[in-house]
Amino acid sequence: MGLDKTPNSFVDGEVPLSDDETELVRRRQGVMAPTYRLMYQRPLTIVSGEGLWLTDKFGNRYLDFYNNVASLGHCHPHVVAATVAQTKRLASNTRYLHEGTIETTEALLSHFPDDLDRVIYTCTGSEANDLSLRFAFKITGGTGVIVSDYAYHGTSALTASVSPNLGPMVPLAAGVRRVPAPYGDEQGQADRFRDHVLEAIGDLERHGITLAALIIDSLLTSDGVFPGRPGFLQPAITAVRQRGGMVIADEVQAGFARTGSHYWGFERHGIAPDFVTLGKPMGNGYPVAAVVTKERLLAEFAGDLRYFNTFGGNTVATAVAKAVMEVIEDEALQENAVDVGRYFLDALEDVATRRPALQSVRGQGLYLGADIVDPGTGVPSKRHTTSIVNGLRDRGILISICGPNQNVLKIRPPLISRKSDVDQFIAALDDLI
Ligand code: PMP
Repeated sequence: MGLDKTPNSFVDGEVPLSDDETELVRRRQGVMAPTYRLMYQRPLTIVSGEGLWLTDKFGNRYLDFYNNVASLGHCHPHVVAATVAQTKRLASNTRYLHEGTIETTEALLSHFPDDLDRVIYTCTGSEANDLSLRFAFKITGGTGVIVSDYAYHGTSALTASVSPNLGPMVPLAAGVRRVPAPYGDEQGQADRFRDHVLEAIGDLERHGITLAALIIDSLLTSDGVFPGRPGFLQPAITAVRQRGGMVIADEVQAGFARTGSHYWGFERHGIAPDFVTLGKPMGNGYPVAAVVTKERLLAEFAGDLRYFNTFGGNTVATAVAKAVMEVIEDEALQENAVDVGRYFLDALEDVATRRPALQSVRGQGLYLGADIVDPGTGVPSKRHTTSIVNGLRDRGILISICGPNQNVLKIRPPLISRKSDVDQFIAALDDLI
């Protein structure tokens, strides 16, 4: 069977594929569900990764600027060594006393304020959010959840039902209210965001629904990367608390030093969440995730809520998570995220002064976004964005797209990126747009 285009391409479009690629796509389609999407009009056939670089089957190398999972770089030697050593020694669960798991948990909590003092391990960010929502429902007796307009919080039935990003195929739960993401860093955004949250709470109350929680990714990444002003979340959080709701900080994207200024995104806002959910970069590619919460909440309200996750917190997962935290510290990656992130933002802003297609550059640490518009009309352009992202891919650089209009460049370089890597990206982008 001949294929002359990429089915299920992450970005729409048709490009001719080689015979080899065509055959792999055909085999994949023959066995894997159509729920999967491939990135890029010409998909990559990746065989290995090292540091910032991915290598495909044909020996081509790609600068991976889309990775906040392999946040320390692909196959980081210290993390790989920890994985192998623990896999050889023991792969087991949380039903036994295990010193390594306790050490990891102590190390993890050392990065949190004192009152966030208990950890529950899961395998995925979805599970961590799902569990936090269950706790919030139990504690408040409510089911009302406030989310950002285009939020994504996971794959389970519950987390999908609070993820407008998934579109109409997954109906939101009856108690879900959406609030617009604050755009850019304009004046008054803190009050405006609070007002939207208050409106949402009012609407829940009118419908007889008790507020359970606000769940928020502090970088508003799936809304289009909107770090906003530091602290802008504060008034909204106060409003939620005053009305009896809980606060879930979803750190799956922003956590583990990505923002540079802080280890966790919520700290940038000086807020005190009840639940903090972790994932993606926690294992640098190994599935390990967690909920961090307060003993006080668990003891008082949720003591009878049982939770055992077969693989969550397994001995290998916790060894990996510890190695990840060690590398962040040993290689001063939080500091690097500040330094290289600032350099990256300046460089993107410079391109924006010369290229009308690039607008509204924004970023925090090593998480950056920028709008792409039609240079002629100034209107957000998915087509143009798609062509830039695929053009970069053809030049050996990987990023992606986000936002409700699919016109935001989503740039997440690993935390080990240097200024010379940024220069390479900027030269390619400048050449393309
Ligand atoms: N929350 C956020 C903000 C995410 O970006 C994601 C994954 N993209 C999740 C939760 C879900 O994490 P996982 O895929 O590990 O279940």
